[in-house]
Amino acid sequence: MGETSGLLSTIEDKLYRVQYHHANESHIQVDQRICDHCRIERICLYICPAKVYEQDVESGRIRVNFENCLECGTCWIACTEGAIDWRNPQGGFGVRFRHG
Ligand code: SF4
Ligand code: SF4
Repeated sequence: MGETSGLLSTIEDKLYRVQYHHANESHIQVDQRICDHCRIERICLYICPAKVYEQDVESGRIRVNFENCLECGTCWIACTEGAIDWRNPQGGFGVRFRHG
């Protein structure tokens, strides 16, 4: 537990340094028709460090909280089903990482 909570606080510390400038439109789209038949255990729900992907409890559909995206590209690579359409946010929008 000690090691895990130490790691989590480190990640939270790092996320605290991230500044967001949200666009109105999502730069991530998922194809729900593919997600409905996901064969890779809905890995998007677990692999994203910013927890951008959530599953709606009632409908079971994938929700995308694109505002929290860190633009790492992991989900796009991990979803081998090809359900994720990920583009860079429009110029001037997205994340800015503060250093120091
Ligand atoms: S986005 Fe990819 S990994 Fe996530 S549920 Fe859809 S098909 Fe599965
Ligand atoms: S690009 Fe990275 S932070 Fe953004 S949704 Fe995908 S896994 Fe999450």
